Amino acid sequence: MKVTKPAVFNWDLWYEGIGGRTVESLGVNQILDKIKEEQTPRFTGKVAKIKKTFSSQQEAALHIKQKAKEFGADLVGICEIQPSDLYKGRSTDEKYAISVGGRMSYEKFNTVPSDYSAVECLEVYYRLGEVVIQLADYIRSIGYTCEVEHPIGDSNLLHIPIALKAGLGEMGRHGSIINPELGPLFRLGSVTTSIPMQIDYPIDAGIAAFCDSCKACRIYCPADAIPDERDAKAGKDHLGNDLYKIDTGKCFPYFARNKYCSACLPTCVYNHKEWAVDFDTGERIKKFPDVIMTEPSLPFDGVEDNHKHYYPKVNREEEKKYNPKKKSTTLPL
Ligand code: SF4
Ligand code: SF4
Repeated sequence: MKVTKPAVFNWDLWYEGIGGRTVESLGVNQILDKIKEEQTPRFTGKVAKIKKTFSSQQEAALHIKQKAKEFGADLVGICEIQPSDLYKGRSTDEKYAISVGGRMSYEKFNTVPSDYSAVECLEVYYRLGEVVIQLADYIRSIGYTCEVEHPIGDSNLLHIPIALKAGLGEMGRHGSIINPELGPLFRLGSVTTSIPMQIDYPIDAGIAAFCDSCKACRIYCPADAIPDERDAKAGKDHLGNDLYKIDTGKCFPYFARNKYCSACLPTCVYNHKEWAVDFDTGERIKKFPDVIMTEPSLPFDGVEDNHKHYYPKVNREEEKKYNPKKKSTTLPL
């Protein structure tokens, strides 16, 4: 496999630029060490000489999906990889991506932002890491090449567009994928391979349309990073809608300084579909978590160009309206 690898993004410098990250939980660091020491060396392996044959691409897809579920995936879908699904400067010789999702505990995410929710996030990354490693081992054992794309490894693939194409859900206003059953509380990993397989397609379950009238995540976002309107300049989602453009220059510093924040995930009404239905009929049931919001960080764009990701800046012309002293703890539900 030919893979070109430009320099890995320098997270340490980035964190330094925003004043350091605040997750110092022993649990988080232990899981990060386990991923590095136990999982990374298992990303590669020998490919068996004899190939398993399948009677059809449909049979191959069903077989691989069943294996992914056996290894612990909660969601699985398959799509063809396009150049736009790869990080800039990366490439792959494999044709297909198997996208897998691992659910996160709503109960644990109810405590965001906290060490408890940050550890849950890392635990899901570790569990999903096992899924993609075991699936890749299996694919090699039946005679096909493949590559592990770990949820937090040095990935070639952009997991989100891959998962959208593979039908795992729709893009939500908060910039995370929403699955009709799991809501947004799941994380993603992938395995790439060239086993000829039937592919899946993006779904339209009415979620993106629902986001146009629901603004729960926007209301709860303590950094004001989630926009009011779709942005015609932000590109299209897989249904052809203009995207909602998250202001990552506001989100990332808050995220890093407040235990990986993630308030937009448990507050998303797609964790509370009954609530959403009741909202439509005017009857409200409070099922939201109590999100503790600390004083938001100011937007920060001051990291040198070669050490940062591109930051979309939305509503910055409204900066005067952005009140850095905002402190909300409750909402009128
Ligand atoms: S992670 Fe926090 S700051 Fe970022 S968009 Fe979600 S709620 Fe807002
Ligand atoms: S909270 Fe509402 S607007 Fe935000 S992503 Fe979820 S469904 Fe969409």
